[in-house]
Amino acid sequence: MSVEGVHALVRRTHEARVLRVLREHGALSRGQIAAKVGLSRTTLSEITGDLLSRGAVVVTDTDASLRAGSGRPAELLTLDPSSGQFLGVDLGHSRVRVAVADAAHEVTATGHATYAPGTGWPERVAVAFDLIDDVGARRGASFRALQGVGVGVAGPHPAGPAVAEAFRERFGAPVVADNSTRFAALAEAITDGPDLDDVLYIRLAESIDGGLVVGGRLVAGGHGVAGEFGHVPAGVPGAAADPCRCGRRGCLETVASVPAVLRNCRRRGLAVRAAEDLEAALRRGDPVAAAVLDEAADAVGQVLAAAALVLDPAQIVVGGRLTRCWPGVVDRVAATIAERTGTGTGTAVIGSGAGTGGAGAGDRIVRAARLGDEGGALGAIAALYRQTPPPAGYH
Ligand SMILES: [Zn+2]
Repeated sequence: MSVEGVHALVRRTHEARVLRVLREHGALSRGQIAAKVGLSRTTLSEITGDLLSRGAVVVTDTDASLRAGSGRPAELLTLDPSSGQFLGVDLGHSRVRVAVADAAHEVTATGHATYAPGTGWPERVAVAFDLIDDVGARRGASFRALQGVGVGVAGPHPAGPAVAEAFRERFGAPVVADNSTRFAALAEAITDGPDLDDVLYIRLAESIDGGLVVGGRLVAGGHGVAGEFGHVPAGVPGAAADPCRCGRRGCLETVASVPAVLRNCRRRGLAVRAAEDLEAALRRGDPVAAAVLDEAADAVGQVLAAAALVLDPAQIVVGGRLTRCWPGVVDRVAATIAERTGTGTGTAVIGSGAGTGGAGAGDRIVRAARLGDEGGALGAIAALYRQTPPPAGYH
């Protein structure tokens, strides 16, 4: 190969790395890009100059709002937003959510539709297709350069591969499919920015599910069930342990899921049928509701403390309907974790919506989830940014 040929090859390799970093992280300054790809500022300036002149990369903004000091704000660069679309889908038990984002990581459209619980998977997929058509028509979302579809399905479900195939056929784009709670874990992990901390995520809702982000990657596990906190024994003595849908007894889900908390309230004479009733009882200071919820939070804290001692995550995120009933659940979970793991590193207890203020650099953060029901669809898009090949047509 000639010297010119070698130069061209090196240049293309550098260019591909710059594009990959922008695809994965969204908007970055030249300095951030240089640090991530390991190039000098001078070399990087040449490459970004060329990419900008070709329109593959655009200046999106400055980082002025993020800077405390004086000095000229740095320009932020992104991939050309119109160069690719990324579609995230979350097929739950009774609703589907979709989100569309561009190559610059802006969410451009969202939507949701419902179906009856127990609806078959082919019918759920059909509802999702109609919803995506509708989002395209009403919200003007274009799928002309669709780079991939991320599909989250509720629970570890054998329908996953068939659902993924249906989306692949329909859109002719790469499909990444996973458990939607795991996608939600990934979405929570990047709410602080694109550099991933190790995050342990648990969702307390109709069931209890979770997900782990370790070393910047979403962990599926050897059998696709990593993060199944719901079926960890909750330490309930044998005689008092309730049967679980998995066939065993005394799983965390039989203590701290929404149906379990409602059942335990009713056993103690408090008439609650739904999460809204529980919420109302807690707001008026009902002692039975408070006691049952505290027991649930303590059980969750014990299980998460054990997981934290094994994995030592930087953040533990607690979300789901139960935390929205009573945000104090997160504080109580955090207190139990701190008590059980309080050696070596500190644990900062961050309650609902309190942000991360007050946490020191080495502290483990226990916080409420920031994203609501949209987390699964957004996490599916985040997974696409990390897994699909670079947008076509750059070279
Ligand atoms: Zn179980």
